Amino acid sequence: MNIILLGPPGAGKGTQARKLVDERNMVQLSTGDMLRAARTSGTEMGKMVAAVMDRGDLVTDDIVIGLIREQLESDQGGGGYIFDGFPRTLAQADALGRLLVDMGENLDCVIEMQVDDDALVDRITARSTCGDCGEVYNDNTKPIPADEKCTNCGASNFQRRADDNEDSLRTRLMAYYKQTSPLVGYYYAKGDLRSVDGLASMDDVATSIASALRQSE
Ligand code: AMP
Repeated sequence: MNIILLGPPGAGKGTQARKLVDERNMVQLSTGDMLRAARTSGTEMGKMVAAVMDRGDLVTDDIVIGLIREQLESDQGGGGYIFDGFPRTLAQADALGRLLVDMGENLDCVIEMQVDDDALVDRITARSTCGDCGEVYNDNTKPIPADEKCTNCGASNFQRRADDNEDSLRTRLMAYYKQTSPLVGYYYAKGDLRSVDGLASMDDVATSIASALRQSE
């Protein structure tokens, strides 16, 4: 199956994508992770997008569509693709549709993760991740263990994202409502949209996603 996880920053897309990778052998394509990797390795593109990302604005469509095209052309399909944080604009959604058609593939389902904005601010400003395996921690609900070793992989490489602060989050939320939320209507009209309560516990969200996927099979 090929699916999109759609939702504002902090909705839990990355966490649920990682579960799907573990449980269904799917391939997670996160444009945010790809852009952060480009920054860390210091490529020209990485340098170009750094300030835009720190501000919380969207990187240009051409760049992210190019990143996704490269990944799809390298064909790691497995149990299918999870698009996480892509598409974020109508132009990206159209481009993804064309790329999948060119590959003879379908989009099976778009999962909208619904959350309220106050919860997002709380989640994001308290968030850190394991730099080695991507496990997500939260100062209030899932603090970093006292022995400072990741519960998933044992590494001691906890990181906070540069854009996980209140100023940048406001810009990211604005970008979501102005540019990305129209995709809810776009995919609803195509008959692909399923909505889940993103504020439920991690396991309950996973159960809702599994049932949405069953309905789309
Ligand atoms: P994320 O990890 O998905 O929250 O993305 C972090 C940042 O990367 C965003 O705030 C944007 O600056 C940029 N970004 C990630 N994905 C996209 C996309 N599909 N379109 C434009 N910008 C993106």
